[in-house]
Amino acid sequence: MVNLEGKTALVTGAGQGIGRDIALTLASAGADIASLDVNLEGAEATAALVRTKGRKSVALAGDVSNAADVDRCVAEALAGREQIHFLVNNAGITRDNLLLRMTDAEWESVVSVNLTGTFNVTRAVSRSMIKRRFGRIVNISSVIGIMGNAGQCNYAASKAGIIGFTKAVAKELAGRNINVNAIAPGFIETAMTRALPEERREAMRRLIPLGRFGSGEDVARVVLFLCSDLGGYVTGQVIHCDGGMVMA
Ligand code: NAP
Repeated sequence: MVNLEGKTALVTGAGQGIGRDIALTLASAGADIASLDVNLEGAEATAALVRTKGRKSVALAGDVSNAADVDRCVAEALAGREQIHFLVNNAGITRDNLLLRMTDAEWESVVSVNLTGTFNVTRAVSRSMIKRRFGRIVNISSVIGIMGNAGQCNYAASKAGIIGFTKAVAKELAGRNINVNAIAPGFIETAMTRALPEERREAMRRLIPLGRFGSGEDVARVVLFLCSDLGGYVTGQVIHCDGGMVMA
């Protein structure tokens, strides 16, 4: 039912975690993949896994918060192709601290990577989508951007910002047949969350009606839906993928 053959996806932060699972899930459905990550080794490992699925794959080293890096990577991803059909803005970081202890560097790095990075890559990739009058953009937000969390004001602001950005760009690009949506994952098992102390993990688990943490594949399957024809009439939405943690 889902066939992405002949299409190309650019996934940021694809070197590990949720981004790698998104890249592999889209590749399994037939898409060629450009894996962009600040860590080239991770991006290359993902690209090699994509190739084992018989898909074309390129690894791109770049920092999404740096507009020049992004323009170079997008040009590389576009080499020899008509367009990038799917963009998944997944790269993200945390630098947690309480408000009064938060340094300028902690605030700025999180907002730069998570929010400005999403803007940089969307601006660069949407040019080819607009020309070809087709595109699907999926931005990875977080339940924290909806409900907030003590010790994460920088992260919450960046992820809430992604939601406003998603809705504005969805309205702007709808006339060009480009759908723009956000996913708000809950607690997903990755390096980012494995680093948390066990008592905090347990407290989080108690907040999840489905009683388990999510996997990268859980998020990747929602991305697949939004990129496929099945999601063709969905734009400007925030899809929660959180085991029922937040019910709006
Ligand atoms: P992760 O395991 O830390 O992976 C993030 C990837 O992004 C890493 O490969 C990282 O590279 C890369 N990256 C970091 N900064 C970058 C930059 N400036 N430019 C390009 N790539 C960069 O994180 P994850 O848990 O998979 O999270 C993926 C996304 O989901 C993030 O946006 C996160 O906020 C969101 N999310 C995660 C959860 C969760 O529970 N895990 C929940 C809600 C939302 P290095 O680490 O090698 O530097």
